[in-house]
Amino acid sequence: MKKFIEFLSSLLFPIQCVGCRAADQWLCARCAQTVRLNSFEPVRFRPSGSQLTIKVLVAADYSQPLLQRLLSTYKYRFVVDLGDRLGDLLVDFLKTAKGLPAIDLVAPVPLASRRLRWRSFNQSEILARRVGQAFSWPVDPGLLVRHHYRHPQVGLDAQRRRQNVRHAFRVADPASVRGKRVLLVDDVVTTGSTLTECAAGLWAAGAREVWGLVIAHG
Ligand SMILES: [Zn+2]
Repeated sequence: MKKFIEFLSSLLFPIQCVGCRAADQWLCARCAQTVRLNSFEPVRFRPSGSQLTIKVLVAADYSQPLLQRLLSTYKYRFVVDLGDRLGDLLVDFLKTAKGLPAIDLVAPVPLASRRLRWRSFNQSEILARRVGQAFSWPVDPGLLVRHHYRHPQVGLDAQRRRQNVRHAFRVADPASVRGKRVLLVDDVVTTGSTLTECAAGLWAAGAREVWGLVIAHG
């Protein structure tokens, strides 16, 4: 059945490079090389009412049309394979933009459960796994848990977004993060509200330091 669905989807959406339309891959090596990666300049976000800041590393500049196409294809077409290529961009970025201290634990930003079921995969988890694998950092996809379902962010202004996700995350097993330096992975950061609320959950559970890693600041 799965093979049949893959076959149908290959008829509807033939696999081709998002950049140059070369066949049989979502991002060819040549196009991958044209993505300009940022240098190591963490963007700091602070949850309101907190003294702590999360340092978010942004791998590439969102103004690049190829990058925008990659991210929207990944988000709306459910292309799991593209997640590995985007994960490779994060890995390349971390290797060239040296400066990140050793990481104890990697966690993806969780999706709300209803949306996760609808999409059937967490895009951030695929990115997080790729990064963890490349640097031999442990990855815990179940580390953060949403309190309950929140409405999708689309269409909300910055302040409403912050309210929408406030205190939305907690750590499933606080002992697993106590004293640790945690790297949170997501595809895109916009207002930073989701990442800072994840960080707030991690700090509340005793994490020593929280970093964020995203592909772009959209
Ligand atoms: Zn290409």
